[in-house]
Amino acid sequence: LITLAIETSCDETAVAIVKNGRDVLSNIIDTQIPIHTKFGGVVPEVASRNHIQNINDVCKKAINDANINFDDIDFISVANRPGLVGSLLVGVSFAKSLAFALDKPIVAVHHIRAHICANYIAHKELKPPFLCLVVSGGHSHIVKVEDYTKYIVLGKTRDDAVGEAFDKVARCLELGYPGGPKIDNLAKEGNENAIDFPKAHFENSLDFSFSGIKSAVLNYINTMKMKNIKVNRADVAASFQKAVISVLCENLIKSAKELNIKDIAIAGGVSANSYLRDTLTAICEQEKLKLYYPPLSLCTDNGAMIGSCGYYEYLSGNISDMSMNAYASYDIGKD
Ligand code: ATP
Ligand code: MG
Ligand code: FE
Repeated sequence: LITLAIETSCDETAVAIVKNGRDVLSNIIDTQIPIHTKFGGVVPEVASRNHIQNINDVCKKAINDANINFDDIDFISVANRPGLVGSLLVGVSFAKSLAFALDKPIVAVHHIRAHICANYIAHKELKPPFLCLVVSGGHSHIVKVEDYTKYIVLGKTRDDAVGEAFDKVARCLELGYPGGPKIDNLAKEGNENAIDFPKAHFENSLDFSFSGIKSAVLNYINTMKMKNIKVNRADVAASFQKAVISVLCENLIKSAKELNIKDIAIAGGVSANSYLRDTLTAICEQEKLKLYYPPLSLCTDNGAMIGSCGYYEYLSGNISDMSMNAYASYDIGKD
């Protein structure tokens, strides 16, 4: 089964052609990062307009790259939740027109489920059940993937998402947008034990909180400025990163042990973080857990992951129609 998969939830216009949920025939991503960099973050209106301008070309390229015709497509997959509604609607409307014109079924895909499914593309042997840490620009979840279309949230952030915290701290350090990769790189030159930033834990819960550490970093920078002491930005980046990543790893491993699950995956933009990958690799080796993560290109937003997720939704009979809508937020566990 071949799907044409569309992703426009934030600032990437992406279309991919995916076969049987695991084989990527093409994966075109047109990122708007250079456009939004000027504003220090994504401007929703600007994002929607650019999706409209780009989607036709991105779609044509995906078809050409895959060396197929529109006739070869069995169904259309599209991310319709969660995300920026104006952006999502561009993908959803495009998908509906295409489905109507080609007379093909259409499948609505949950963007965060799709981030998890990116692992199926990279690891052909990976099958549910497994545990997944989803860390992206807007979400931080520990999810039990019971089946291809059954997800249970075991813990989540009570305020900011991890990616959001990375981006905000990067802005305080004047590193530019998006901040995650910049902090990742700068931290390599810093001392992770230089500053003791707070780590939030909740009793009897796997939940996270990242707004406190974000304020602590800001306070630290302001205090140093008032004292006229030069801030060592690499030390701040490394210490912040260590504090955040260690809480993520602690809660993930704790839940793996509690549930006696041996297969662990990570997903979402922050799963590209080298410190997270290295730290978890070491812990999983020690704890005899198998760790899966997507290649860097499939961590941040892309169409291939939508096609993988769409395939499994299609097989489960979760087929949508022309009444499909877009949603800003939507529980990953809810159908
Ligand atoms: P969501 O998926 O929750 O809707 P999103 O789609 O905007 O949000 P993603 O595309 O999954 O988010 O990821 C983008 C986020 O990942 C940004 O916050 C970015 O800073 C972060 N990120 C990317 N690379 C890294 C890295 N190497 N280290 C840390 N964070 C990173
Ligand atoms: Mg993005
Ligand atoms: Fe995303």
